[in-house]
Amino acid sequence: RAKTEGRGAFRFFAEEMNVRLQARKLLERQLRHAMIEGQFELYYQPQVEAGSWRILGVEALIRWRHPERGLIMPSEFVPLAEETGLIVPLGEWVLRTACKQAQPWGDLRLAVNLSATQFRQPGLEDAVARALAESGFDPQRLEVEVTETILLQDIEASLDALRKIKRLGVRIAMDDFGTGYSSLSYLRTFPFDKIKIDRSFVHDLGQTEEASAIVRAVVQLGRSLGIRTSAEGVETRTQADILLLDGCDEVQGYHFGLPMSVDELETMLLRSGTQPLSLPPSMT
Ligand code: C2E
Ligand code: MG
Ligand code: MG
Ligand code: MG
Repeated sequence: RAKTEGRGAFRFFAEEMNVRLQARKLLERQLRHAMIEGQFELYYQPQVEAGSWRILGVEALIRWRHPERGLIMPSEFVPLAEETGLIVPLGEWVLRTACKQAQPWGDLRLAVNLSATQFRQPGLEDAVARALAESGFDPQRLEVEVTETILLQDIEASLDALRKIKRLGVRIAMDDFGTGYSSLSYLRTFPFDKIKIDRSFVHDLGQTEEASAIVRAVVQLGRSLGIRTSAEGVETRTQADILLLDGCDEVQGYHFGLPMSVDELETMLLRSGTQPLSLPPSMT
């Protein structure tokens, strides 16, 4: 009996694996198709200076406009694009498109996310240089955001690529700081210009004293290393006020602006430029 049960369980497991594999294969096919059909779009979220609450720049965030499923968020396709290597051509498209679209936006800075997978491919710095040259985008206005996962692979190769990108005049930000594999020593080795404190820490601000202590410690660390600090996922006025008190240089989050389409962003910029944002009333 045990034997049959075991076999049954295995069959069930195998079927489930098969279903998942099929779903993945389908998604991969659809991703390739979407690239050919041009179904990807970039949304832009404001990055705001703490205190003056002026918009300093925007972060480009990819979206997939699926003909039947509607707007698909990156969490649903970026991981597979990374696994299959599709993120390499897709990432180049993001760089080129973002530089082209943001070109006319005065001196607003542009932040673009880069995957660890893109660092495994030689020539990332050439792709960045090409995107800049094609659109005549000022390298000083560009910042690339990388996560700690680049430290889990060939560190020398990643470091080499980062240095080359920096030599173009582009800035480097460490994204999602404080999650996962955090070793402080790499802050010394890697040429980061900005630390983006992960939104999980921001979430607890005003509720636990520890959250504020962590933010203050990161800000201090940044100060002594000459690295700017930014906080992600700011959703309330209270969080923004605490971050200002704690010495954070920049903030980003739904409280200051959702990721917007190019049209929405351009309308907003035309209407009010980068003026200090009138902060909506506290939600807490
Ligand atoms: P990320 O780079 O850390 O981007 C911030 C994410 O937080 C965005 O999610 C943004 O919409 C969301 N967010 C912003 N403000 C708030 C807030 O106040 N509260 C909350 N709960 N969330 C907020 P999104 O657009 O879904 O992107 C998720 C992740 O996908 C990004 O995290 C980034 O790692 C990746 N990603 C997005 N676009 C690209 C891209 O063009 N290339 C690559 N390689 N990765 C990308
Ligand atoms: Mg980012
Ligand atoms: Mg982040
Ligand atoms: Mg993230």
